[in-house]
Amino acid sequence: MPELPEVETVCQGIKPALVGSKFLDVILNRSNLRWPLPSDMPKRLKFSLVKKVSRRGKYILIEMDNLNTLIIHLGMTGRIIIIKDELSQEDVGAFYHNTARNSKTLTKVWEKHDHVVFKFVNMKGKEQNLIYNDTRRFGAMDLVKSEAVLSHKWLRNLGPEPLSSEFSLKYLEKRLTRKKNTIKSALMSQEVVAGIGNIYASEILWKSRVSPLRLSDTLRRIEINRIIKETKNVLNNAILKGGSSLKDFRNTSGGIGYFQMHFSVYDREKESCKNKKCSNKIQRIIQSGRSSFFCNNCQH
Ligand SMILES: [Zn+2]
Repeated sequence: MPELPEVETVCQGIKPALVGSKFLDVILNRSNLRWPLPSDMPKRLKFSLVKKVSRRGKYILIEMDNLNTLIIHLGMTGRIIIIKDELSQEDVGAFYHNTARNSKTLTKVWEKHDHVVFKFVNMKGKEQNLIYNDTRRFGAMDLVKSEAVLSHKWLRNLGPEPLSSEFSLKYLEKRLTRKKNTIKSALMSQEVVAGIGNIYASEILWKSRVSPLRLSDTLRRIEINRIIKETKNVLNNAILKGGSSLKDFRNTSGGIGYFQMHFSVYDREKESCKNKKCSNKIQRIIQSGRSSFFCNNCQH
């Protein structure tokens, strides 16, 4: 499932193509994803120019010059593909869970799950398509007045951006002392901090040497401080990796850019702990229906 670094990578990937471009048409191949798609989207986006592409938590925000903003959530399997012409397609931010697919079958898969197609003309006058493809359809889209974006029901309760100075010791200490749940679910709660999901929560806790089973209100100040520092490190490193995957992609003509992360604990059950001083194996447990990966020697 795409988390903050993947969504950021998608934003960085579509920005050069989209900013300054004009939407010519929007084709809705179905009426809903996770929720209904705004049926007036084609009418409201037609002939408007893209002013800005940004991110809030796991949401992509595409701001138009006609004071509308398109909000996109990639859900579990949402992908954005920019087709420059009939021969080359650019798959922006393909995620960890997407194993490499046979290029011969790829086109077919994309066609089947291409739910929304945005036709636009870029600043060089070239027509392109931005395709929203989503096999499991847990993604979502809405089109709102730009001034109302932050008060939209999907965004208004989001906690601070983890990479902002707002995500500080003072802030997190205050939020965690009131929490009776585990630190793993606190990190994954979008109201505590925006953009972190199951994968990066496991990674951050391993780096912080804090067990995912610890209750939030039992954490010491020094541990909360480590969690803040490692949250920023882990996410920044993943964003760098995502950014270079885009660069690699541009260098390979027509290939698919895969954002392949090498995780420290995530999905490494029964493999050796990556701490050189530790000879333990990584464990997997289920917490609130989701897998947590951790080392019970390094994390307390
Ligand atoms: Zn270990």
